[in-house]
Amino acid sequence: MSDAKRPLRQTKIVFTLGPATQSEEMLEKLILGGADVARLNMAHANHEWTRMVIKRIRDVSQKVGREIAIMMDIKGPEIRTGDVEVPIELKAGEEFDFTVRPGGAPGESPEEIRSVGVNYENLLNDIEVGDIVLVDSGLMRFEVTDKIDGRRIRCKVLIDGQLTSRRHINLPGVKVNLPAFTEKDRRDTLVGIEEGIDFVALSFVRKGKDIVSLREFLMENDSRAKIIAKIEDQSAIENLEEIINECDALMVARGDLGIECPLEDLPVIQRRALKACFDRGRAVIIATHMLESMIESPVPTRAEITDVANAVYEEADCVMLSGETTIGKYPIECVQTLDKIARRIEEEGDLAFEEPALLHGEKIDVLKSAVVLANQIKGSALLTFTRQGFMAQSIAALRPACAPIFAMTNAVSTLRQMRLLRGVIPFVMPLTSDPNDTIDNAIRLLVREGYVKVGDKLIVATDILSHDRLIDSIQLRTVHDN
Ligand code: PEP
Repeated sequence: MSDAKRPLRQTKIVFTLGPATQSEEMLEKLILGGADVARLNMAHANHEWTRMVIKRIRDVSQKVGREIAIMMDIKGPEIRTGDVEVPIELKAGEEFDFTVRPGGAPGESPEEIRSVGVNYENLLNDIEVGDIVLVDSGLMRFEVTDKIDGRRIRCKVLIDGQLTSRRHINLPGVKVNLPAFTEKDRRDTLVGIEEGIDFVALSFVRKGKDIVSLREFLMENDSRAKIIAKIEDQSAIENLEEIINECDALMVARGDLGIECPLEDLPVIQRRALKACFDRGRAVIIATHMLESMIESPVPTRAEITDVANAVYEEADCVMLSGETTIGKYPIECVQTLDKIARRIEEEGDLAFEEPALLHGEKIDVLKSAVVLANQIKGSALLTFTRQGFMAQSIAALRPACAPIFAMTNAVSTLRQMRLLRGVIPFVMPLTSDPNDTIDNAIRLLVREGYVKVGDKLIVATDILSHDRLIDSIQLRTVHDN
């Protein structure tokens, strides 16, 4: 069913692509089911697969007539354990060594103390006695008791567990000196640029400068991909505002955040991040464990329903699925569930933040007035025109109460990037040099596609020609017959 045939949903849906969803058939169902952005997690992807699925998403989008966006999620700095020949069973109270030589070479630790290698040579410089080492999404917990020979970190096991090969390590509160944008990230991003991705999501962003280096790289390589900063550790929280200033959108990556920060802080961080993005007019994605139980079950838990509803009440731009759509048994049902919850909660209204604190300027003032008008005229919609997406992003940031934002662009790449924005329904059409003609054509398109009908009110926020000068304007138009 196309967007036009049902009430419009404001909150957008990001899904992560994986074995459960990569077939043409599944992609078609997801795209028609209302998914807006496909995420490729480069921690688990090779370049051949990446090129293949990007082409497939584009082909299926074209076939069904609904272009969605593609987000390449690059790994960023990551510390991992090396290979182990057989899984190592660890019991609380035992001693265990992490060695900075890959593979945990035999003989590095005394015979009676078992060990594993770590892929980061400077770990010993960053870590202190008393720090906590978490392995495998926090399932195993260690406390650093000693640093030996400049090569080994001796730890006490705090929680039993089984250590297998190449497990992810988190070091809560430790300032790690790894580069923000690694060699692997560069290679992955170049493939993404060649294939025309719409967004790059950078993992473990720690400060504003991390985004600046990625942006320089994108510009050097002629890419217009937008940057999503994934906040996942305590440094990102400390530098939240400067990160938001540099990025185009933010992802609250609750998986790693829940390991790196006290669990009870998560809702506080989520709300603070949402508010800070809102103030600065940036889009925000709430990610991870939204419908985790649906990896195995066709229905969500009651707590998951409330978690999704909370993100919608908080006016997030997007909610995101990870394992639910990569390996889950019910990926289509997950998208349907998000869709249903979002529509229901949007009917109720939101938490009504104040208007964005940091958006200023004449253009924004005109857009604010357009949103005030749309809020006052029941059943109206906003209509705008945008080449790069700026107008749509600004109106979305002003969070009209219920009016959809129809955003017309002449570029399919801009249309895709607008898929991330709350309340924005994007279209591609020619933008002529005469703004009046363009408005008339847009209204005809909206009528033809069933989004508006005769008698509907549209608040049009766009440039108009006045004595050969383009000026910002707001118009109130009623849809007529022709
Ligand atoms: C997360 O940690 O919540 C997240 C989205 O990141 P990743 O899936 O890349 O670990």
